[in-house]
Amino acid sequence: MCPGAHRLWSHRAYKAKWPLRLILGALQTATIQEDIYEWSLKHRLHHKFSDTDGDPTNVSRGFLWAHIGWLFFKRHPTYLSKVPTIDTTDLMADPIVKYQRKFYTLWVVLIRGTMFTGIPSYLFPDQGVGYLLAMNVLFYVILLHYTWLVNSVAHMFGYRPYDQSIEPTDNTVLVYLAMGGGYHNYHHTFPHDYSGSEYGWEQNFNPTTLFIDMFAKIGWAYDRRKVCPQVIQMRTKRTGDANQLRRNARMAVDVILGLIILYWPLPVIYGIRYLIH
Ligand SMILES: [Zn+2]
Ligand SMILES: [Zn+2]
Repeated sequence: MCPGAHRLWSHRAYKAKWPLRLILGALQTATIQEDIYEWSLKHRLHHKFSDTDGDPTNVSRGFLWAHIGWLFFKRHPTYLSKVPTIDTTDLMADPIVKYQRKFYTLWVVLIRGTMFTGIPSYLFPDQGVGYLLAMNVLFYVILLHYTWLVNSVAHMFGYRPYDQSIEPTDNTVLVYLAMGGGYHNYHHTFPHDYSGSEYGWEQNFNPTTLFIDMFAKIGWAYDRRKVCPQVIQMRTKRTGDANQLRRNARMAVDVILGLIILYWPLPVIYGIRYLIH
């Protein structure tokens, strides 16, 4: 899951200097998944009232509700009553969050348009703008589903090594699709861990943690919060099941699988295009 709206702004799992916050804000805008304020507010509700009516993506209302239904149907009255209980003062105190929200539509058109249509049309001048726009929409839809799977699949299918009493699961497929966001049982047990998993990117597939660590090297990311191994061990013993821990795959295997699972649409699209011509 994303290093910005999720790990930085929703959970305050690490701190970032303004140039990094600017990059993260631009990337988050390009995903068109609501502004940072809305995204973080809903995500805080998702954690605080997980899998109950106060959770916008409450999985106990079924797979389809958790995946996509919550975006289209009327909100539960309990959810609406819980919104004011979430403290968002820190979010609006950040000028990047504030001005992204204020001119959100304009930023989306500018940043998304530049990144996914403007730059590709410069790099591939022989491709028509219509084709590039269609690709832009296609990748948007694919990425949305990748994100939504964390609310649906990772709250239903998989293992619960850290806490057996909650719905979120560690799900290997989602580890790849959500770029390290599939350790969801861990994440709901220890939401403030900046890595979103027990291990760093060196031991487990987690490109999002690698991204944060790279910026930590130049000092733009700092104060990364990590849960100490003893606490994790004690918690696993008390509420989880250590037998269900994801075996650390060999990193080469993880990277190859991750690239295939993440980027399968590219060869498929270019293959179809090649066959048509
Ligand atoms: Zn969740
Ligand atoms: Zn979270």
